[in-house]
Amino acid sequence: MFEIIIDKDKCDGQGECADICPTESLAANNGKCEVVSAEECVGCMSCIEVCSVQAITVTETEE
Ligand code: SF4
Ligand code: SF4
Repeated sequence: MFEIIIDKDKCDGQGECADICPTESLAANNGKCEVVSAEECVGCMSCIEVCSVQAITVTETEE
C-alpha cells in the first residue's frame, strides 16, 4: 500500500498528476487535486515527477 499526500496549499489544480496516473488514483476537482483511490496506487511516482510545484508525497506503508 502507498499513502499519497497532496499539499493543497501548493497545488495549482491543473491535474497533470491525475492525467498521468496509470491507476486513476488522483483527480483534479474544484481547482485542487484529490486522492480518490490510494488503494489502487502502484507507487510508480509518475505523479511526483510531473508535479511542477512538488505538492505530492507518496510513501510506502506497512500494509
Ligand atoms: S500535478 Fe501537482 S499541482 Fe498539478 S494538480 Fe497534481 S498535485 Fe496539484
Ligand atoms: S505513484 Fe503512480 S500510481 Fe501512485 S498516485 Fe502517483 S502516478 Fe498514480
